[in-house]
Amino acid sequence: MTSRKVVVLGTGGTIAGRANSGSDNVGYKAGEVSVADLLAAVPGMSDRLRGCELVSEQIAQIDSKDMEWSVWRALQQACLKHFADQSVAGIVITHGTDTLEETAYFLHLCLASVGQGKPVVLTCAMRPSTALTPDGPQNILDAVTVALDSRSTGVLAVCAGAVHGAQHVQKAHTYRVDAFDSGDAGPLAWVEEGSVRWCQSPLPAEENSGSAMAVHIEPWQAPRVEIVMNYAGAGDSLVNALCSMSTGAMSPLKGIVVAGTGNGTVNAAMQVSLESAASSGIQIALASRCAKGGVVRASPLPDGFRTYAGLSAVKARVRLMLELMMSATDIKDR
Ligand code: ASP
Repeated sequence: MTSRKVVVLGTGGTIAGRANSGSDNVGYKAGEVSVADLLAAVPGMSDRLRGCELVSEQIAQIDSKDMEWSVWRALQQACLKHFADQSVAGIVITHGTDTLEETAYFLHLCLASVGQGKPVVLTCAMRPSTALTPDGPQNILDAVTVALDSRSTGVLAVCAGAVHGAQHVQKAHTYRVDAFDSGDAGPLAWVEEGSVRWCQSPLPAEENSGSAMAVHIEPWQAPRVEIVMNYAGAGDSLVNALCSMSTGAMSPLKGIVVAGTGNGTVNAAMQVSLESAASSGIQIALASRCAKGGVVRASPLPDGFRTYAGLSAVKARVRLMLELMMSATDIKDR
């Protein structure tokens, strides 16, 4: 009988970081320790695995501030490959905290319907592996626990004992180990001494809107979508600059996400330049710079404008990029 497996994909981050001193939690270099070495340093792992096999693969070795589409693509492909193996019970991804929410949401949109509902669990650390009390080993142990839990499904994130869903998870603190939050939605579960206490059901695959987007897209080329913020005195210069520099080495601009003030509002001059961009075919997504809530609209939006219920600006960008890719494929296929 083949034993069940948990696959751990390494991408770098602080969890794989090294500093010169154990008391230095910020002056480290991210992405230094291999995922195999990280796993070997987790006490109690074999008990937690209860006979399951642990397999690792290094996908990247970066600080997640440098995360890019090629790594997302490699992660997506690796997940598809491992889920094709029936003995894989779940996948854990070690990741930097800074863009974890974007990778989680990307995978949520691209992988939700594959793997027969088996989970993909992202985990991370706020302290490097060399810290006096690193948080990485406990987070990895918890993530493996969640990956093996029979109720786990979809794309999840585990940090500081909390389990979050990909749609709502957001980095909310710059320094503390309990750095993630799911806003109004709250965490899905807590990991306590090797058990998962669920407070809400994770989203089953078929209810994930837009599930399996981009799974079949080849060749992989990400449309350029940028984010601008509205703030006191912002004006229209950034939107105008973006629209006018769509040449040279840059791929053409296809979309703008606005991290608007409050309920997705923008200043009068920016509104005019966004409407002009929309009339030239650039898609505009309105999000909010507020940490909680989403854009709530009662009146119709101008042509070429959209909002995504409850999505932050960075996640709205991921979604818009994938939608643009899907529509490009539809057009090509017709
Ligand atoms: N700079 C790190 C990263 O995102 C931060 C972290 O992992 O906590 O890779």
